[in-house]
Amino acid sequence: MNIIACRSHPNPTILPYAPHSSLTHQYPLRFAVLGAGFAGLSVVWHLLNQSPKELNLNIHLYDEFGIGGGASGISGGLLHPYSPKVKPLWEGAQCWEETINLFTIAQQATQHHIKPFLPHKRGILRPAMDIKNMTKLNHNAKTSLPCCRVQTLNNQAAQTLLPGLCLPFDTAFFMPQALNINPRHYLEALFLACENLVKESSSLYSGEKQLILHKKSIHGLSEFEGEYDAVIVCLGAKVNMLPEISGRLPLRTCRGVIVHLEPPDNTRCYPEHGPSILSDAWISVQGSRSLNVGSTWEWKSINSSSNVSTDEASKALHQLLPKASAIYPGIKDWVFTGAKAGLRAMPPLTPHGSLPLLGCINDFIGRNHSCKYWLFGGLGSRGLLYHGWLGSLMAHAVLSCNEEVIPSELTSWKNIKPKF
Ligand SMILES: Cc1cc2nc3c(=O)[nH]c(=O)nc-3n(C[C@H](O)[C@H](O)[C@H](O)COP(=O)(O)OP(=O)(O)OC[C@H]3O[C@@H](n4cnc5c(N)ncnc54)[C@H](O)[C@@H]3O)c2cc1C
Repeated sequence: MNIIACRSHPNPTILPYAPHSSLTHQYPLRFAVLGAGFAGLSVVWHLLNQSPKELNLNIHLYDEFGIGGGASGISGGLLHPYSPKVKPLWEGAQCWEETINLFTIAQQATQHHIKPFLPHKRGILRPAMDIKNMTKLNHNAKTSLPCCRVQTLNNQAAQTLLPGLCLPFDTAFFMPQALNINPRHYLEALFLACENLVKESSSLYSGEKQLILHKKSIHGLSEFEGEYDAVIVCLGAKVNMLPEISGRLPLRTCRGVIVHLEPPDNTRCYPEHGPSILSDAWISVQGSRSLNVGSTWEWKSINSSSNVSTDEASKALHQLLPKASAIYPGIKDWVFTGAKAGLRAMPPLTPHGSLPLLGCINDFIGRNHSCKYWLFGGLGSRGLLYHGWLGSLMAHAVLSCNEEVIPSELTSWKNIKPKF
């Protein structure tokens, strides 16, 4: 096997997909990435960015609804690296850094656009909701990560930040660097960044790069056999609907509805620099007159539609508004203007927390395959945090044809038998 170093990556990579005799070999590598959500687009970006400049590479991205057609496109867009008890999540600092990198890349791709992608830098506030956990929360806040600090605020300090706030236990935990984004704008910007990278690489270097988006429904992995060198499955909660995989992954599905609220008249708005809020329901501030409030948790649902019926929306509003307005009563009479929903793929709890599932699935799906099949799924309710770094690890594994570059914490799911 010929090997070459992957020069575009900071850590030189061994790349078994090397052309046989020279770096300018005509044979293009063909990769299919299934799913254009956080997972799929991060993988596409990293495949393009990590592959050698001289390599001919065709990437075909498949999604039945186009960019951000699944849970990613409708999500709350909240980003921070902590558990509900503000304990840093597994490799939280690394994950945070890589997601911020992707935000910067997406931002640069749209900087000359009329509607640039810009993360909202309001920070996120987490009120203490439970006296029992207060000691734990206070302790965890003291050991917060430098990349996304957690400050403990008393009621007075919290009121300065968000006048009108109602803290049940007079304490809140504030993450000033935490962000919230418009997820659909972000995904569109990241896709544009991928397209720009393809154009730039192809004009500057000998290797031809190609990226094609196919708006197409996938019914099974067998559709791809013989067509591609590698297939990376990033289908979110619908991965379980592939016949080769159905019922065999340790994933549970959970539908969530988000409602959109606007102020009842022109005199009212959310405070200009007011943070987003994480309590029993969260408030994701999209603008001073535009709030998303989420989310419901309907376990075992198989409904992945982003459309919400009048009945489902009304139930969600009745569930979410009292919880959100208990913390910020100012929104009690805000007007409901719409609802959207998505299906989460929830991974099992491990000693390191609930971690996404990564790895090569050839052994898992059986049969002899000429192509390598990879899985990047189970991002749970933390897709934004995990997609950056894990997308990079996935691309590295695919390009080097080596699952061992993925930390074992992310591949250990293969030893778990799903309980159904
Ligand atoms: C209500 C709600 C709120 C959330 N809020 C947040 C938040 O604030 N912060 C956060 O970090 N995470 C949040 N999440 C979680 C986050 O949305 C997920 O972790 C993330 O979207 C998973 O990304 P993914 O790329 O794996 O899946 P998806 O985004 O679902 O992408 C999979 C893609 O595959 C496509 N697809 C599926 N099946 C097929 C098929 N058969 N053929 C063709 N295409 C197919 C879909 O159209 C979709 O675009 C939230 C989730 C929900 C439901």
